[in-house]
Amino acid sequence: MYQHYSRPGMDANGEQPGHAVAILSVQEGPSGIRIVDVNTDYQRLWGGSREAWLGAAPVVVQQEAANQQIITQLYKALYPLTNSEDGVFEGISGREISRWHNGRNRHIEWRITAMGGFHKGHSTLVLTQRDVTEQIEKEAQLERLATTDMLTGLVNRSQFDVILKSELNRQHRYARPLSLIMLDIDYFKDINDSYGHDVGDQVLIELAHLLKRNLRKADCCARWGGEEFMLLAPETSLEQAVRLADKIRSAIKHTAFPLENCVTASFGVVEVHSSESVKSLMKRVDNALYLAKEKGRDRVSTGGLFSSAKQA
Ligand code: GH3
Ligand code: MG
Ligand code: MG
Repeated sequence: MYQHYSRPGMDANGEQPGHAVAILSVQEGPSGIRIVDVNTDYQRLWGGSREAWLGAAPVVVQQEAANQQIITQLYKALYPLTNSEDGVFEGISGREISRWHNGRNRHIEWRITAMGGFHKGHSTLVLTQRDVTEQIEKEAQLERLATTDMLTGLVNRSQFDVILKSELNRQHRYARPLSLIMLDIDYFKDINDSYGHDVGDQVLIELAHLLKRNLRKADCCARWGGEEFMLLAPETSLEQAVRLADKIRSAIKHTAFPLENCVTASFGVVEVHSSESVKSLMKRVDNALYLAKEKGRDRVSTGGLFSSAKQA
């Protein structure tokens, strides 16, 4: 009867349902909301034959407790309309993640709307469900591509800008410590020239792993440019950020990259001032890094305000 709702060209294994549709009858009294017809996609989605579904209570989402909540929500929305001829049911809708029998998570979008109004306490509803997993996964993949550096898998520069602005706003509002570390590999051009671009790339990938291993979950690590990286450390004072930078500096120096000589990097470290702009912060961290390079590389600089063993 309602088979025209089916999407043509289904997967051969039938795992991807199109629009699953169930027609529901709403009666006053104990019979409540019952299925009067389902299409083939509804049977594919929830199993069972059409005959088995006729007269049964509808399944909107997989999880029993969530399903019960939706049915209760539906009764609440319908109740004021049962005695009125001209009441309009606006419909209810939602999206649920269901764990499928093959172990995959599927995102199901559902909607319940009315087919006309109430007549003598009786009405007909249409329940539609659609599997939007592919669409959601594609969107997530596009989002990943737009925000991730392809070589190292770290956050890319434009996403770092977004995160930095948001952390600066938070810092301005709550006056919490926030520090920024910029690091640049020393004499990286020589590594490329001596060993080739592929080895250079390998060094960048391994360095990214090293950075991730040394950071906390709340920290953000981004590839800023060729061989330059940014580390944003919330709840971290200048002194703590200097210690972190020096720990990473030492770890890089003692890592066995596939080269004869060790790899070193120079670091600029600053703590965000209250109400400081992105521009001013970038200028200060860049100056601090410049100073670390100037003073001989393989060191940490705060732009001259802080000094200890391996610092400029
Ligand atoms: P310094 O100590 O002053 O930082 O010297 P440096 O040689 O590291 O700096 P320079 O800016 O002269 O060179 C950076 C090099 O990084 C040049 C460029 O070819 C290389 N580079 C940039 N992006 C990539 C990349 O994605 N892969 C590889 N292998 N090399 C890259
Ligand atoms: Mg550089
Ligand atoms: Mg460099």
